[in-house]
Amino acid sequence: MTSSAVTSIELTSLHRLASGKVRDLYEVDGETLLFVTTDRISAYDVIMKNGIPDKGPLLTFLSVHWFKVLSDKIPGLKTHFISTALPSSSPISAEDAATIRGRSMHVRKLKVFPIEAIVRGYVTGSAWKEYKAKGTVHGIKLAAGLRECDAIPGGPIYTPSTKAPLGQHDENIHPDEAAKLVGDKYAKKIEDLALAVFRAGQEYAAERGIIIADTKFEFALDEKTDEVVLVDEVLTSDSSRMWPKDKYEPGRDQESFDKQFLRNWLTREGLKGKDGVEVPEDIAKATSDKYREVFELLTGRTLEEAMKTI
Ligand code: ATP
Ligand code: MG
Repeated sequence: MTSSAVTSIELTSLHRLASGKVRDLYEVDGETLLFVTTDRISAYDVIMKNGIPDKGPLLTFLSVHWFKVLSDKIPGLKTHFISTALPSSSPISAEDAATIRGRSMHVRKLKVFPIEAIVRGYVTGSAWKEYKAKGTVHGIKLAAGLRECDAIPGGPIYTPSTKAPLGQHDENIHPDEAAKLVGDKYAKKIEDLALAVFRAGQEYAAERGIIIADTKFEFALDEKTDEVVLVDEVLTSDSSRMWPKDKYEPGRDQESFDKQFLRNWLTREGLKGKDGVEVPEDIAKATSDKYREVFELLTGRTLEEAMKTI
């Protein structure tokens, strides 16, 4: 599609409510938002200076695809997704519409729970580090003798973290701690939904040659109905570790379709956690290619084909 990455978006016809590391949230009306995904990329909680070409549209269409697949697979699942069409209730200029084409989702504005609902099917990343040191993952004791990237015996586990403000680091916590943050009334529901959505996603991805090793979901409360709703992005290469099934081999780091490539480069160069890092063009291009490859495997179409549908 495009060759340059879009890291900053200024719309003139909508009011920006907030900006995250990757997304900008615009007010549509009192009850809904326009959820706009830029090409910004963060790793180890820091935003890189330049972006990843086409990442915003790739993440947007992949999330939209998952919202549909998951709603079919899990009866009764509530999500924040309304439409990829621009809201008619709030007029958007032709120029703004062109700027965010393929990057926006109209969603319900909800009260996001203050935790990251992480689910892990495999021992990797920070979970592997903790397991190697203590035999636990987020304080949960696992069987002895697991190798790096082994599947967690007994199936995926819910391993939440805190949701740190911009510039700070999320902290891995035990599910009991998460229950204190969200309240007992919703804790079990969030855990059950996170596990159900993860299993459904894993099953769908496995049929397409992909292992979803772990992911981070966000859930919110619909205060009108008291329902727990799946929000944010879902099962994307930003929020998940995804590995090609045919190359999977426990006992080592895996080849992956996600940010791991960028993380490894940062670590190699001694730039992990540093501000304002400029990602070289070849690393940005390789990351974009990985996001694109897994997008095509999971959705069965190219980004260019997806763009034609809106
Ligand atoms: P990261 O994804 O790396 O943790 P971030 O948390 O800064 O970064 P972004 O993805 O850039 O997040 O921005 C999305 C923001 O929108 C998050 O703060 C998320 O909690 C919030 N959000 C997601 N869905 C909704 C919703 N339906 N209503 C209100 N806020 C939402
Ligand atoms: Mg986010």
